[in-house]
Amino acid sequence: MNRPNIVILGAGYGGIMTTIKLQKMLKLNEANITLVNINDYHYQTTWLHESAAGTLHHDQIRIPIRNIINLDKINFVLDKVVSIKPEEKKVKLETSELSYDILVVGLGFEAATYGIEGLEEHALTIDNINNARLVRDHLNYNFAMYNKENESNQARLNIVVGGGGLTGVEFLGELANRIPEMCEEYDIDKNLVRIINIEAAPSILPGFDPFLVEYAINSLEARGVEFITRAKLKACKPGCIVYERDGEQFELPTMNTIWAAGVRANSVVEASGFETNSGKVEVRRDLRAPDYDDVFVIGDCALVKNPSSGNTCPPTAQMAVQQAATAAENVKALVHDKKLEEFTPKDSGTVASLGNNDAIGIFLNNQKLLGWKATFMKKMIDNRYLFKLGGVNLLMKNGKFNIFY
Ligand SMILES: Cc1cc2nc3c(=O)[nH]c(=O)nc-3n(C[C@H](O)[C@H](O)[C@H](O)COP(=O)(O)OP(=O)(O)OC[C@H]3O[C@@H](n4cnc5c(N)ncnc54)[C@H](O)[C@@H]3O)c2cc1C
Repeated sequence: MNRPNIVILGAGYGGIMTTIKLQKMLKLNEANITLVNINDYHYQTTWLHESAAGTLHHDQIRIPIRNIINLDKINFVLDKVVSIKPEEKKVKLETSELSYDILVVGLGFEAATYGIEGLEEHALTIDNINNARLVRDHLNYNFAMYNKENESNQARLNIVVGGGGLTGVEFLGELANRIPEMCEEYDIDKNLVRIINIEAAPSILPGFDPFLVEYAINSLEARGVEFITRAKLKACKPGCIVYERDGEQFELPTMNTIWAAGVRANSVVEASGFETNSGKVEVRRDLRAPDYDDVFVIGDCALVKNPSSGNTCPPTAQMAVQQAATAAENVKALVHDKKLEEFTPKDSGTVASLGNNDAIGIFLNNQKLLGWKATFMKKMIDNRYLFKLGGVNLLMKNGKFNIFY
């Protein structure tokens, strides 16, 4: 191809890693590379729950894109992707339009509310920096209001977290650590505060090792978290939620509902007419969209099958980063008219933090870790990512070095 236009949509884990790899792999005169993102920063989605709980400032989570890409090689466009027109090889942005020869779609995920009554209007989510910051400020506001009103309103101190998956549990862990500080700050008796997790399945963290799940439940309960399992959220209202359990409906007063129970692929993908399966593009083994030889889809927008197990790869940062490496190789192969490689996922384990000082995890060879050892591993994984992204400078600036607590 003669100096093709390569356009990368989204600067999350998948998009930014593809960009950084391509800027190293292709010479200046080999391609025009454009990265489009809605913000001028990349953020660590896997740390958003900390920002939402108020245990980590969002400035430690976000990284200015211009600091980590080579602006001599990459044209960065700060804009919102409105739609993709694969037949015309064009991308419509809010303020302009781009033409591409090769496209990489890495637009990530958005919260899914499954049509539950009132959820969109009255619940908060942890799916980007703006929403995480809103959760933190909303909780602070309700704590501040509690002592200002003449009549005590318990709904201000009841915090409901919908969903006991990875995001919900990691948020609960941070929250459990943060509440005592908030109570001191706002002069509130901490026995009055309730943190309640509503989960539809019989237990939290479905699919995780049962021994580790039990450890997580004990750790969180010891810090005041209450679990209501086998409970389906039916409605979210301004002052309460309604859930169903064993065929009966219950009302729980709360002005703090944080929905962490579902994500879907960025709706831009489906709206752009790509063939989708549950909102995601079921890509070929080389990560290209089924009908388009010039479009790669990676990360949470892609449905990728593990060829050895036949299972769908989980929507994780780990997978997005691995896919970015293959996507970059394959973009280079297209530019040089070479054979494309197939993506093979490598499972290097899963860790769930339970606050800054506790965690559970499964690592290589099914090794179970918990407590400080799992916390140490989690922080090492995070630090390794920062090093890959921006070298020692970024690691020193944004890394987590409070390793054992
Ligand atoms: C609280 C939380 C904890 C998590 N913990 C873990 C964990 O411990 N381990 C793990 O592996 N995974 C974890 N995940 C999942 C992981 O974060 C996602 O799977 C991962 O972020 C997906 O990467 P991505 O590149 O597909 O998309 P993202 O990282 O979401 O990036 C998408 C990018 O596209 C941008 N964008 C979106 N829409 C537009 C638009 N219209 N126009 C322009 N730009 C746009 C966004 O701003 C963002 O920069 C967690 C998720 C959450 C929410």
